Amino acid sequence: MISKIKTNIKSFLYPLLYPQCKNQKYYIVRKIVMLNTFFLLGMFAFLFFALLHTFITGKYFIALLDIFAFIVFLYLYFDFKKSKNIKKAALVGTVLLAVFMFTFASYNHNQSFGLIWTIFFPIFTISQFKPKTGLLVSLVYYLFLFSYLFYGALYWNESSWDKTSLLRLFIASMLLTFIYYAIERSFESTSIRLERLTNIDALTKIFNRRKIDEIMESKFYEFQRYGTNLSIAILDIDDFKHLNDTYGHSTGDTVLREFANLLAKNTRKTDFVGRWGGEEFIIIMPNASLEQARLNMQRMMQKMASHKFETVETIRCSIGIAQANKETLSVDELFRRTDNALYRAKRNGKNQILSD
Ligand code: GH3
Ligand code: MG
Ligand code: MG
Repeated sequence: MISKIKTNIKSFLYPLLYPQCKNQKYYIVRKIVMLNTFFLLGMFAFLFFALLHTFITGKYFIALLDIFAFIVFLYLYFDFKKSKNIKKAALVGTVLLAVFMFTFASYNHNQSFGLIWTIFFPIFTISQFKPKTGLLVSLVYYLFLFSYLFYGALYWNESSWDKTSLLRLFIASMLLTFIYYAIERSFESTSIRLERLTNIDALTKIFNRRKIDEIMESKFYEFQRYGTNLSIAILDIDDFKHLNDTYGHSTGDTVLREFANLLAKNTRKTDFVGRWGGEEFIIIMPNASLEQARLNMQRMMQKMASHKFETVETIRCSIGIAQANKETLSVDELFRRTDNALYRAKRNGKNQILSD
């Protein structure tokens, strides 16, 4: 029963909170989910307060303010859904939140402890910008806010706002801001490490198979959707087993590292280099035709031939290349064709480039 309710809640919330998250990094997903949550909660909270102040308390000006804020949050939620522009959503959200807080404070004067709402600002900014930027923005916000509230402690007579409550809110706000900043900093470094662990090959420091599969999915989608060129190359070091047997496994590891370095250095910024497994590597060349891919790989072969590897000095490799075409219906098929080309290059005497 409970698990069924949980599933229902999940299937209700998931499309609301995660619409822009496909293929995103962990900490980006977190930002997206936080933005959506923030906009949705804002929407419902302001709607609630608008109704409350219209029909129960009779505070019509605040109700008007709430309705305005509700419309703004509604707009932000759908605009973000469409544009997927995190930076813009975060910036607009921050400015609006600050404007709202100041307007609210100037009207509410801490009646019924209303100023408690002001602490939501740092939580939003620090999570949306880089923690340091968020902290800085929050401190500027507090500088202005507390200057104003200090004035309030002297002149607002009608509410329970005096120097003690000012000091209390100030200290609590600062503590919360810095604690939240520390949490975000640690989350940031953890997620960067996690990102590296999941996507980078430990030995060669280039993309691993998992990441390459992910990139291929998205590049293949672009090829199918927009008809952009997509070529790939699989490179396999020749007689690597022999090298391992002759010089030892650790020299083999060094060669793999150097080899990966060489590939990474001699590809365009838009290409992706990964370790396919063992002594096999892959280069994804979006926007390259088969001919361009062949030229690129010929240049790569030349670089390799002139490179002096540690201990073993020279390394040769065989390369299979293929370009996605109308008959290529899946990523696996493109891999299979490239693999076939590589297999033929090996059978044909190694140290050469063949296409399928
Ligand atoms: P070919 O020219 O036909 O490609 O022959 P090859 O010897 O290069 O290929 P084979 O597939 O027979 O052997 C690959 C070797 O690569 C076997 C394996 O021990 C070695 N190898 C795989 N991963 C690593 C690694 O991470 N480090 C080291 N040092 N060796 C590895
Ligand atoms: Mg091999
Ligand atoms: Mg090999």
